[in-house]
Amino acid sequence: MNNRVYIFDTTLRDGEQSPGCSMTVEEKVRMAGKLAELGVDILEAGFPIASDGDFEAVRAICREYPTIRVAALARACNLDVERAARALEGATRPRIHTFIATSDIHLKYKLKKSRGQVLDDAVAAVESSRKYADDVEFSAEDATRTDLDYLEEVCKAVVAAGAGTVNLPDTVGYSTPDEHAALIGRMAKTLGQNVIVSVHCHDDLGLAVANSLAAVQAGARQIECTINGIGERAGNCSLEEVVMAMKLRHDRFPVEVGVVTEQLYPASRLLTELITFGPQPNKAIVGENAFAHEAGIHQDGFLKERTTYEIMDPRSVGVPESRLVLGKHSGRHALNQRCSDLGYTLDRAQLDEVYQRFTTLADRKKGLRNEEIEALIQDVIAISQQAPAAR
Ligand code: MN
Repeated sequence: MNNRVYIFDTTLRDGEQSPGCSMTVEEKVRMAGKLAELGVDILEAGFPIASDGDFEAVRAICREYPTIRVAALARACNLDVERAARALEGATRPRIHTFIATSDIHLKYKLKKSRGQVLDDAVAAVESSRKYADDVEFSAEDATRTDLDYLEEVCKAVVAAGAGTVNLPDTVGYSTPDEHAALIGRMAKTLGQNVIVSVHCHDDLGLAVANSLAAVQAGARQIECTINGIGERAGNCSLEEVVMAMKLRHDRFPVEVGVVTEQLYPASRLLTELITFGPQPNKAIVGENAFAHEAGIHQDGFLKERTTYEIMDPRSVGVPESRLVLGKHSGRHALNQRCSDLGYTLDRAQLDEVYQRFTTLADRKKGLRNEEIEALIQDVIAISQQAPAAR
């Protein structure tokens, strides 16, 4: 089996269309540059029919980054496909990504179409996409709530019509890892080696990364994901998490992933700068606390040997260094380390005094800044110089 897992980044499409994440054409081009440095395999640049801005962004990204494979989204209709094709005209490696919902709930309430009509639309959209691009992806929206036999019929038909990648989105974040693995395993077996089976998971139950990883173990070879996990509602599968899980646990995921992991944190920072919010502090990989230690036992272990409390080197994901946060849970070992980092050499009595004052102050605060610690040190040094006899 092909062991290469393709990373399909949709930060600029699914991510960008969620609240607080709109970007201008210039901002999208800037982010695309970082995604190119990060080495994502496919960059979904927008949904050209949705707005002139999206159309322009796709065009600009194709022009600026000719080496990257750029995808543009299109509903399964001629107007959308033609608009996507127009936007991709300047691309060296264009991909048209066309989709239609396949679940009964979407057919009945949203599309008001029969299963037969949707099957016909899907095939027609893939056929017309192939007139403009050799690389065509088809997505069966809401695949995880679709009747499996019908889903299989649609998948086989779009592959026969020329789709090289078949994406099975968990559009509403409803699936579980075991269920998702069963679905992907069945479709991968049915479609065979020449088709890339892709996943696109949402995080409504906090399972997007787990579902994507279970899918890889079952045969998925493309993961759709976003920086910082942004995207509709609770977001998409987080790129940094799914990539690091596969890289770090290669023993469980014997696959190849082409991302330059040192660019993960810089990409997260740039996105935060461009949109209205950043990752929560305790977010895996890129959160402010992801490599921070406050508890004394942890700090002591960490200072003796980093791997006691860290499973990855922060520099491997582009975070400059681990942080020891000095707060009420911290111990002497970390405090002493901080004093010497700040340029002070304290004797035992001075360190004891600084530690006493530090714990009293830290009890009332959520963590101490370097300037506050420095003020404590200077007070203690001043006292010990003024009244040496009292010591
Ligand atoms: Mn989505």
